[in-house]
Amino acid sequence: MSSPFPVEKIRADFPILKGNNRGKPLAYLDNAASSQKPKCVIDSLSNFYENTNSNVHRGTYELAEKAENEYTQARSLIANWFSVNPEELVFVRGTTEALNLVANSFGQSILNQGDSIILTEMEHHANIVPWQLTAERTGARILTTPVLPDGSLDLDVLYSHLQEPRSKILSLCHVSNTLGTTNPLPSIIKEAKEHGVKVVIDGAQSAPHYRIDLRSLDCDFFAFSGHKTFGPMGIGILYGKSEHLHNMAPWQGGGDMIEEVSFDGSSFAPPPQRFEAGTPNVADAIGLAEAFRYLSEIDLPSASLHEGLLLENARAGLQSIEGFIEHGTTSDKAAVLSFSIDGIHPHDLATLLDGEGIATRTGHHCCQPLMKKLGVEATARASFAMYNTMDESERLVSAVRKAVSVLR
Ligand code: PMP
Repeated sequence: MSSPFPVEKIRADFPILKGNNRGKPLAYLDNAASSQKPKCVIDSLSNFYENTNSNVHRGTYELAEKAENEYTQARSLIANWFSVNPEELVFVRGTTEALNLVANSFGQSILNQGDSIILTEMEHHANIVPWQLTAERTGARILTTPVLPDGSLDLDVLYSHLQEPRSKILSLCHVSNTLGTTNPLPSIIKEAKEHGVKVVIDGAQSAPHYRIDLRSLDCDFFAFSGHKTFGPMGIGILYGKSEHLHNMAPWQGGGDMIEEVSFDGSSFAPPPQRFEAGTPNVADAIGLAEAFRYLSEIDLPSASLHEGLLLENARAGLQSIEGFIEHGTTSDKAAVLSFSIDGIHPHDLATLLDGEGIATRTGHHCCQPLMKKLGVEATARASFAMYNTMDESERLVSAVRKAVSVLR
């Protein structure tokens, strides 16, 4: 199997990929956990600290003005990528913080005793626990949507939840970090709207692979992490429709999120500043914008096809191993391959793969309810990005075969 995607050209942009793992050429197949960074993103960080570093907001000297301008431009560039207004983007630490913000501020303001929050069995803990905490505080309850044997959502159950009059919020992932399932968001969002249910999307696994037009997707909130989208660690985005952000109470209080403070009370800045208390992560925001500038030069649909071929190749090779089970088999799944092999513990498997230079991940992938549904404690997971090669996909297959022969 070969792929027409210019992968070697892309790889040349990622310095770490030239390195080794346990003395063997690194095959980095843990992209669902965190992606590697192109040189331009790394350079943008050192460039900021070498040439621009100063605090933003209210600086009266040239350097502060420069930092403020770059920070503002970063927000505009990212907003442009997602076809929304800069004021609708809140810089946060990542998906986890974004979802906590929505659950705490928006959730708390619209949920009452007996209302429902709809989740799905394939959610990451970051899209479960914040809602549980909000449910405890408001008296709301959580309705779950089952996952079917192929890894797709049971849409009949989801749609019946949406029809319940007390359903207020649906929060679900765009792409599952464990199953690779890509949820049919346009039809789900349309159905939710018909019933007045607000939709929160965990885009942690879709933002790195697709160009998403949030205006036409028409969800109410969308969250993702920079470190999975070829950007820096410690930065992410919460998109919220302007009408919601304007009506939401602050989540954290402090400097830079206020209009006026007195001991009689405080008034708050408009969004997005209202949700960005304290000194923001300026360097990483600029680095994140650089990651999207880099992505704008890449043909993402071709990159996705390329990733799909790597997945297909790995799956075809691994299927011949006795006892191989793939978790999530929907036809349009993202390039995430979670699997079990009868009689072999995924941690033992990953340790042997590590010895072959191959970085994969094992565990519950922060999806314990999904593991329960699948009837396993953990799975092995290889997740591909645009810079992975067919050779790496082949190496994965050979290394798993070799490991199985050692472990059985
Ligand atoms: N949701 C999904 C689907 C994820 O894959 C992850 C990261 N594994 C998260 C949320 C949490 O992201 P972060 O740790 O960057 O906040």
